[in-house]
Amino acid sequence: MRAPDGITLSGVGKTFRGRGKVVEALRDVTLHCPAGSFTAIIGPSGCGKSTVMRIALGLEGADAGEVMIAGAAPQAAARAGVTGVAFQDAALLPWRTVRHNVEVPLEVLGRPLRDSRDRVQAMIDLVGLKGYENSLPGELSGGMRQRVAIARALVTHPQVLFMDEPFGALDQILRRQMNVELQRIWAETGSTAFLVTHGIDEAVFLADRVVVMHADPGRIVEVIDVPFARPRDPSLFSDPDFHALCDRIAEVLHGG
Ligand code: ADP
Ligand code: MG
Repeated sequence: MRAPDGITLSGVGKTFRGRGKVVEALRDVTLHCPAGSFTAIIGPSGCGKSTVMRIALGLEGADAGEVMIAGAAPQAAARAGVTGVAFQDAALLPWRTVRHNVEVPLEVLGRPLRDSRDRVQAMIDLVGLKGYENSLPGELSGGMRQRVAIARALVTHPQVLFMDEPFGALDQILRRQMNVELQRIWAETGSTAFLVTHGIDEAVFLADRVVVMHADPGRIVEVIDVPFARPRDPSLFSDPDFHALCDRIAEVLHGG
């Protein structure tokens, strides 16, 4: 079988019109994320990061261009369980236990739960929540809730994992722990990862490439390769080469 194709965006454009206001959220966004790669998108508020992701997930249509997810159109990929997604506010169902939250995408896709028990448990174990299967979201810390969201995103065995600022609500120390965890989880699952983030250090630590966007119109201004060997150790966060790359990305981000 041919290897899956990752994510391809070709000339994607999107304009929102309403109440006399016109926002060109995306102009000519072209990007290829090879299968198994890790891409981070960074840019100021309103530059179209979430819109790119929503289009790739099939939640929103593009006005121009084409999007392919593992060789399929976004909605078809979503229906086939090819894509998984985790958002900033873990968006868990508060009345359902950890296990039952992780099962949600299987229910949505109409997959029989009895065939997926091992998979559900494996994902809970993978994110380090063994023993919390029957806990309710309200009984968990913010970091644990984000872990549940990631387990849920992975339960359908998605080839492509989208994350929109998944650790944005966490403090710095917990965020770095989650970055290390996410690297491990991504390496174990072999999925193509697409991370929207505000954190330059998070982007550089995790990604193979950092895509910098600017607003008005939302567009890609530069794609920067991250050369550090994997697996990356937390000590990378204090490496001078790491800081030099973060500084360079900050310059591009702030228009330098
Ligand atoms: P980001 O995630 O980078 O902060 P978004 O993709 O959410 O940016 O938004 C990009 C731009 O498009 C912003 O100006 C935002 O206000 C606008 N926008 C996003 N979604 C809608 C919508 N459904 N209707 C109108 N404008 C929208
Ligand atoms: Mg956003």
